[in-house]
Amino acid sequence: MTMKLQDTRLLAARLSEVKTYGHFINGEWTEGHSGETIELSNPATRQTLAYIQSGDAVDVDRAVNAAHHAFPRWSKSSPAQRQTILRVIADRLRARQLDYAMMETLNNGKTITEAFTHDITGAIGLFEYYAGAAFQLHGQVADFADSTMLIHREPIGVVAQIIPWNFPLLMAAWKLGPALTTGCTVVLKVAEETPLSALRLAELCQEAGLPNGVLNLLTGFGEPCGAPLAAHAMVDKVAFTGSTEVGKLIVKAASNDLKKVTLELGGKSPNIILDDADMDLAIPGAANAIFFNHGQCCCAGSRLFVQEKKYDQVVEGVTQFAKNIRLGPGLDSRTQMGPLVSQTQLERVSGYLRSGEEQGAKALCGGKRHGENGYFVEPTVLVDTSPDMKVYREEIFGPVVTAIPFKSVDDDLLTRANDTTYGLAAGIYTRDMARAHRIANRLRAGTVWINCYNIFDAALPFGGYKQSGWGREMGHNALDNYLETKSICASI
Ligand code: NAP
Ligand code: MG
Repeated sequence: MTMKLQDTRLLAARLSEVKTYGHFINGEWTEGHSGETIELSNPATRQTLAYIQSGDAVDVDRAVNAAHHAFPRWSKSSPAQRQTILRVIADRLRARQLDYAMMETLNNGKTITEAFTHDITGAIGLFEYYAGAAFQLHGQVADFADSTMLIHREPIGVVAQIIPWNFPLLMAAWKLGPALTTGCTVVLKVAEETPLSALRLAELCQEAGLPNGVLNLLTGFGEPCGAPLAAHAMVDKVAFTGSTEVGKLIVKAASNDLKKVTLELGGKSPNIILDDADMDLAIPGAANAIFFNHGQCCCAGSRLFVQEKKYDQVVEGVTQFAKNIRLGPGLDSRTQMGPLVSQTQLERVSGYLRSGEEQGAKALCGGKRHGENGYFVEPTVLVDTSPDMKVYREEIFGPVVTAIPFKSVDDDLLTRANDTTYGLAAGIYTRDMARAHRIANRLRAGTVWINCYNIFDAALPFGGYKQSGWGREMGHNALDNYLETKSICASI
């Protein structure tokens, strides 16, 4: 990252102006119908950052109408036009990468390094990848007897997209890339905690040439704003990322008129370390699997399975790693872990830590809040857990890992690793590639990382088995989520 400290101070000063943002509807900043606003604060300091509109069903209706009216033209735009616009979005994001990273840090709490190198870089890569995809939406022709059969791919229509707060800009990019390149129009509802970078992105998309109404952005809470959006009669498809609990509500809301739905939900992912693993790779790998983004990752490696012979070494290594993590405000370049995103998440994670203690789990490090001002939680390694404990079974969404010893793979490792209602991701550390692939084949998870963890690429599909979701995002497959197939059969 090429960034001077002075740059960050200047940008921080500029970004610290407390503004009130509107919804972005049909290319214009629009005040919400309710007149109510939501205060955003910096999770590291609790200082007020901005105010946003608290969206409701009337705002939803306005935004969906804008997307509906923009659809006929956008759906018939040329691949070249869509490619150019997506490419320009990527270029402009790159030109303002530090600005966006700073917004992410102020609003979400994550460190500036993580925001810059992971979130914003990832978002740029997404737009670049889907810019290329605009020319790959080929249909097919089939010949049969005296008929010619054409198989067309057409954009699905108006898409509602609802995203969480853990990777604000990146989640927006994952959703927008395939939708825009296929010619769909969008109403995006961002998490009420972290709307700032996506609000700026909406404006940037307009500057990049995206016609008005193609992307509409609403801010507000889930129930008054997200729920009417997921249920709106003029929405053809809903794409949701967030908790499994809300995912089920989305399915119900969309079921009335059988909208197409894709879901990217929670996880309780197993990360498996075999005794032949390269420990210089496996120990920091296991630590990063859980502590990356403060554990606020749907695919966090939160159940760490370690083969008995190396259990003590790995647990000690990960504990030492956790103790050395420097907590602080994300804008401080020395900080290695920022605060959790909100008071709600602080309480939620603290509740899990208390329940772990009450049920007999032992914290080798961490286990409590750090400081009194921001929403910091100490990185925590839990041992002596059992499958009946909440900390073992439920998604904590914080920097808390549960270490579990196992004897051998043939034993019951795979049953235990798969013993979860989720199936988003898994990790395996071993020097034996054949063994790694045999295990990977038997894990019920959408992504399996071997000798690495948390590697994402725009070309690599991501999504879950079981209650971790429906469908896949990213990669070529994600285009299918936004396309209908039409068969035309002509007698000749
Ligand atoms: P959440 O409630 O599932 O929120 C995700 C998004 O859905 C937000 O934009 C939210 O709005 C919206 N939403 C909430 N209720 C809705 C409804 N009835 N209809 C339509 N949209 C609705 O997640 P959260 O409350 O922020 O976090 C709670 C837990 O969810 C976390 O602790 C974690 O376990 C999990 N989570 C998972 C992921 C993931 O990537 N899989 C991401 C975030 C959270 P508002 O939040 O703005 O009200
Ligand atoms: Mg929420």
